[in-house]
Amino acid sequence: MMSEFKPILAIVVPCFNEELCVVSTIERLREVKQVLVDKNKISEKSYIYLVDDGSADNTWNLVVQMHEKYSDVKGLKFIRNFGNQKALIAGYEGVRALGCDCAVSIDADLQQDEWAIEKFVDKFLEGADIVSGIRNSRETDSLFKKSTAILFYKLMNMLGAKIPMNHSDYRLISKRALDIMELYPEKHLFLRGFFNEVGLKTVYVNFDVKPRMAGESKFNFVKLMGLALNGITSFSVVPLRIISVLGFIMAFVSFIIGAETVFEKIFFHNTPNGWATNIILLCFFGGIQICCLGVIGEYVGQVYREVKGRPRYIKETELK
Ligand code: UDP
Ligand code: MG
Repeated sequence: MMSEFKPILAIVVPCFNEELCVVSTIERLREVKQVLVDKNKISEKSYIYLVDDGSADNTWNLVVQMHEKYSDVKGLKFIRNFGNQKALIAGYEGVRALGCDCAVSIDADLQQDEWAIEKFVDKFLEGADIVSGIRNSRETDSLFKKSTAILFYKLMNMLGAKIPMNHSDYRLISKRALDIMELYPEKHLFLRGFFNEVGLKTVYVNFDVKPRMAGESKFNFVKLMGLALNGITSFSVVPLRIISVLGFIMAFVSFIIGAETVFEKIFFHNTPNGWATNIILLCFFGGIQICCLGVIGEYVGQVYREVKGRPRYIKETELK
């Protein structure tokens, strides 16, 4: 038989305008929970915790109805949309306060194979603190999303933040990891980077991706770009160093070109008709400078957002 220890599992589900999915998602996750309880792997006190990220549709009413029907359905509603990362953080903080031994986060559209939760729990019982889901393929994504995602992971790794390819926010974390999260006060915590940075025992489990159950993706280009830029600026300062090195090389090259021009002027008295060269260099340096300013601007923006110390999210109501 399994060990005596039966952990309380909390399943965190961020939801943003998911009225088409949320009810069947809750039913399916309760099914998974029941199977794990029957197999003696988790405590019957396990529960599902939905975080409504400021939905404008009927999502929250449905969550309230499910909460009235089932005591293991709990949740939280944001006052407005704060984004999927904040919803996840709020979920983790919420279940930490309610009490649990481990938490799994999964999307409300059940694109991620919900039965992988059993594998996650097995790894947790074997002693892992973090079990990260790795997608088997990206077939359900558009070509654009697929290629930008791959580019992002390659870039992050080049910049020194070792995040495995095809990582997702589908993961299990232990109570210990939840406690450590509290020690990271940064408001715009990038979870995928964070869990790889802490150094807790991490294992990876592959899972299949299905098409969205219903509705449309709640991520648009701007949200994805924001997530990627936040990931880079909060986990790597390499772009800033590249700028310094670039500046140094540029200064060196300009010095040589300048010296050469002066030399020609003095000794050969031929003012060269280098109009094209002038324009090219002007554009080249202008472009590089603006680009570098942009990169620095991103970091200044990150510092600015953090230094204001605004709350990560604001709760409207909580169902315990
Ligand atoms: N989500 C959220 N806030 C947002 C956008 C998305 O809480 O601002 C939730 C959404 O309800 C879903 C999860 O994040 O549970 C992943 O979103 P989605 O499935 O739309 O993203 P995709 O799978 O297309 O990347
Ligand atoms: Mg999805």
